[in-house]
Amino acid sequence: MISKDNYKYIYIRKLMKYMVTSRRKFIKISALGLGGLATTSAAFGLFKTNPLLDAAIKENVSKKLYRSATYCEVCFWKCAAWAYTDENNNIKKIIGNDDDPHCNGRLCPRGTGGVGMYSDEDRLKTPLIRTTVNGEQTYREASWDEALDLIASKFKDIKEEYGPESFALLKHGSPGSHLEHLFKAYGSDTIAEPAYAQCRGPRETGFGLTFGSWVGSPEPTDIRDTKCLVLIGSHLGENMHNSQVQEMSDAIDNGATIITVDPRFSTAASKSKHWLPIKPATDIALLLSWMHVLIEEDLYNKKYVEKYTKGFNELKAHVKTFTPEWAYGITTIKPEEIRKTARIMAAAAPSVIVHPGRHVTWYGDDSQRSRAIAMLNGLLGSWGNRGGFYFKEKISIPKYPHPDYPKPKWGWHDLGEQYPFAEMGITSEIIKATIPNEDNKHPIKAWMVAGTNLINTLPQREKTIEAINAVDFLVVIDTMPMEITGYADVVLPECTYLERYDGIRSATNRTPSIAVRVPAVKPKYDSKPAWWISQQIGKRIGLGDYFNYNDFEEVIEWQLNKLGTSLDEMKKIGVKHFDRKSGPLFLKEGQDYEFYTPSGKIEFYSQQLANKGFAPIPVYTAHPQPPQGFYRLNYGRSPMHTFSRTINNPNLSDLKSENMLWVNPKVARILGLKKHQEVWLKNQDDIVSTFSIKVRITERIRWDSVYLYHGFGHNNKKLSRAFGKGISDTELISKTVVDPLMGGTGLRGNFVSILTENPHKNSEL
Ligand code: SF4
Repeated sequence: MISKDNYKYIYIRKLMKYMVTSRRKFIKISALGLGGLATTSAAFGLFKTNPLLDAAIKENVSKKLYRSATYCEVCFWKCAAWAYTDENNNIKKIIGNDDDPHCNGRLCPRGTGGVGMYSDEDRLKTPLIRTTVNGEQTYREASWDEALDLIASKFKDIKEEYGPESFALLKHGSPGSHLEHLFKAYGSDTIAEPAYAQCRGPRETGFGLTFGSWVGSPEPTDIRDTKCLVLIGSHLGENMHNSQVQEMSDAIDNGATIITVDPRFSTAASKSKHWLPIKPATDIALLLSWMHVLIEEDLYNKKYVEKYTKGFNELKAHVKTFTPEWAYGITTIKPEEIRKTARIMAAAAPSVIVHPGRHVTWYGDDSQRSRAIAMLNGLLGSWGNRGGFYFKEKISIPKYPHPDYPKPKWGWHDLGEQYPFAEMGITSEIIKATIPNEDNKHPIKAWMVAGTNLINTLPQREKTIEAINAVDFLVVIDTMPMEITGYADVVLPECTYLERYDGIRSATNRTPSIAVRVPAVKPKYDSKPAWWISQQIGKRIGLGDYFNYNDFEEVIEWQLNKLGTSLDEMKKIGVKHFDRKSGPLFLKEGQDYEFYTPSGKIEFYSQQLANKGFAPIPVYTAHPQPPQGFYRLNYGRSPMHTFSRTINNPNLSDLKSENMLWVNPKVARILGLKKHQEVWLKNQDDIVSTFSIKVRITERIRWDSVYLYHGFGHNNKKLSRAFGKGISDTELISKTVVDPLMGGTGLRGNFVSILTENPHKNSEL
């Protein structure tokens, strides 16, 4: 493995390549010297626990310690929890709230490690301002007033010179909503988040076009009552969507059949009756063939299709030739296996779920693949039926009064206008509009980046850095010194979710519920909550009317009162349930129902797509396969980590400190690889991984692919536990294929070769 000393030289060389013409130099913040109890369900058995012991601990803990209501921010699932603190204001433990449908009283392994976010000594501690000393760019510590005054002056300058729309917000997580309010009040809706175009956007388009409804989060899947769950590239159990994993375990205990389609034998595959190790990039062929079997064998849900769908005849004609024999040649899944699994789904229907997945930006035709998944559910009649998908409902949180937002002259919509089905800002379009180009109608001149480490999140790192170097001003708000913070003009240290109030969590579940987050402890160091940062900037730029409160507590109290409860009550219960108002969870036999599509029906044939020149029914298109000597780069989640942000977390790093490269034994034999041998990866564009990774030889991955956990390979030295550990998949994703419907970036068309010699050894000179 490359030593940390050698790393410095190599990394500087890499950066020089990126920044040779740049005005903005990356600054390693390190140069300044700045300073559970987990359970999952039994079928997975990742973290075994004794329910009696859990209850005893909860009882015991609640007697001795002070508890605060919160909801977890370690991932997007937002499980409601109790944070327990002792008399010295130390957080002793975080446990799930029993009344919360997101967690049912059990946090996942990552969630219990949330306390590590608070205690991490590598956290950002004070505002920092970029400065030049003896011709060298560096950071100096600043007071909040100084940092906020500087930011406010830039807000004013950008507005005056280019218009407020030229200031973009790139965000993730709870802090984003506070900053979004600031930006909208300022006059900019040039706002985007990687969670859309680099993650789940295509499935919302695919399901939206078919059922007239986004899937949303949490997905309205009635997994606990299902008889058959089909996972296509969705690795529940490793991707710890807490309540879904619990329900999947219950379903398995109740005899449900799990069918997993994945080139890797995932944890979910190990719990499945059928594992279909599909050739990557061929999923649409399998989906079309499944539909062919259901229709040709007369196994589809006829009553449901007749009553609720439109375009069945067109679909029937479309899939006529997509026999399992046709699909076999493409997917490598045997025809009898395709037929057998289609029949299992039909036998379970309508209590069957073909899961929409979550991270679905794969090959560029992802909205159409998601649509094929939605249509398969339509044929089976699972949408609106027990054991399938339920009709979700959520409480609308009253808006705290503020003046109307000004109407921007342009915004995210205009940047993504070539993608007619985009419904949120597209991060890659913000990057494009930031890189100077004379054809650019809407140039972006400044960025605020909150809670997202764009360097390790977005593909095509060179382009991200080119855009960063082009902006006049960059503010980064984060709890940790991530790679992105080194490019900022101003760095603001945000406090963690355990130290702040945030917006009320309103969840779509079987019954609507709300949850609150109140501070369990005072902010450590000189960190501040995003609501305060937004308010302070707002007041400085004349937008005080939009932030007409002393403390966010006041906002929550007002909203809770409108909802018929109070902050006092919510502090005691953490989660409150409300009665459903939109009707039953499921359709009644023969019930009339209007879907939110133009036709009011589930649309097998989409006139909306046809009108825009797209295929009205999904078609299979062949995607490039790895050339000789290369393997498809597949990546996914580890149960212990979320994105790149948790890798340095002291509690979670203890559980998993580095990723490994899954390699099929055949490949290992050809390349002469040994177990735990250190290797480097080089992609099709000659990008070589900065660090090395250990080999894991396993039959659990197809011979044409390699696999690693996402989020590792940090190159910021201030991340004392995460620095240099493993390989970053993002670093090697230089090729993307854009989804023409909604602008999502397909990330799984990258191929790597495995290097056994240290490619950086000459850099040690
Ligand atoms: S699934 Fe785990 S990490 Fe995510 S919010 Fe729930 S407890 Fe936290």
